[in-house]
Amino acid sequence: MKKVENYYAEFDRKENLKFDSKVVHGALGCDPISGSVSFPIFQTATFRHRDFEISTGYDYSRLQNPTRQELERTMAILEEGAQAFAFTSGQAANMAVFDYLKRGEHCLLCDDLYGGTHRIVEDIFKVNGIEISYVDMFDAEAVRKAMRPNTKMVFLETPTNPMMKVGDIRGIAKVAHEGNALFVVDNTFMTPYFQRPLTMGADIVVHSGTKYLCGHNDVVAGIVVIKDEELTHHFQVQLKSLGSGLGPMDSWLIIRGIKTLSLRMKKHNENAKAVAEWLRKHPKVKKVYYVGFEDHPGYELNLSQASGFGGMISFELDSAESARKLLSNVKMILFAESLGGTESLVTYPITQTHEDVPDDVRRALGINEAFIRISIGIEDAEDIINDLEQALNS
Ligand SMILES: *Cc1c(COP(=O)(O)O)cnc(C)c1O
Repeated sequence: MKKVENYYAEFDRKENLKFDSKVVHGALGCDPISGSVSFPIFQTATFRHRDFEISTGYDYSRLQNPTRQELERTMAILEEGAQAFAFTSGQAANMAVFDYLKRGEHCLLCDDLYGGTHRIVEDIFKVNGIEISYVDMFDAEAVRKAMRPNTKMVFLETPTNPMMKVGDIRGIAKVAHEGNALFVVDNTFMTPYFQRPLTMGADIVVHSGTKYLCGHNDVVAGIVVIKDEELTHHFQVQLKSLGSGLGPMDSWLIIRGIKTLSLRMKKHNENAKAVAEWLRKHPKVKKVYYVGFEDHPGYELNLSQASGFGGMISFELDSAESARKLLSNVKMILFAESLGGTESLVTYPITQTHEDVPDDVRRALGINEAFIRISIGIEDAEDIINDLEQALNS
């Protein structure tokens, strides 16, 4: 089909702007036709052809929609990648990533992993003939030793969920590429505000857009960003065939969320530091897992690849009873799954996010009945601390 002039085709990557301005102005930012300052929600399934063999560049929303495209372009700009793809969830994004692997190939993953990612590789890809193994990715040499001749993908979360272990992005990128494997980083916890893995050698960045990118606990979404155009075809086929592209309304909500990403991440970071320091001194708290402590084993490594620590903290209480009390008695803080929103949320990994991870694996990591994960919101830090205090003492 011939194409007529597409007013949405050209966009500026805004390389002259700083990150805090890029999040506000996105790719096109305004609607190039009407001037609408808020990018329009193209709530349509299909697009009219003006004439025989004429297309505007948009044919059907499963393939592409201008609102989803604005989000994808914005994410490509922020992560400094060639292209991005927006999915209906982080899980759908991860499915599209792992579907790159063929039967008989091997995927090496970090040993502490989001529960849903563990479920994808164990219950779907391993069953379909992909070899799966795990290694602690703090040390790139350990990753090198765990590589196999058929390793085609290395997958890292840093910091990890929920143990806050740090993986060596630059070191692993080298090891993966020497073995001709793709290197994927789940950047959900840090976001491009703090950490840009594609600039340090990663080939793919994946996000649960549900978390900090959205930021308001009101949309489920996923994002993939690729470093080079070469992988474009793989992800376009995934979106076109599986139909897992994010809808226009949800895409718009994520675009809107991203506009305040910098402000929110700054506040999450500040609040988490204050809460982590307070938790550490509390007599009922046995251990605090927080990347921003100078004595955290990954502190230096994290600072060599990220400009902050994020808003996530995990901690172990003195007993399962204390954990139960805390979860039952928080008032402002909400006992709920998920993370990265404006509201502080406490989660109980053993029965929530990590329910499907085998018990011996969980216990080896330190996830037990006294273990809590908290996503620090953007409320006043003092209110978060006061709420934790009253819940622990009730
Ligand atoms: C939540 C999460 C996912 C899954 O994303 P959904 O949007 O819930 O499908 C993947 N990885 C990490 C690190 C997450 O926190």
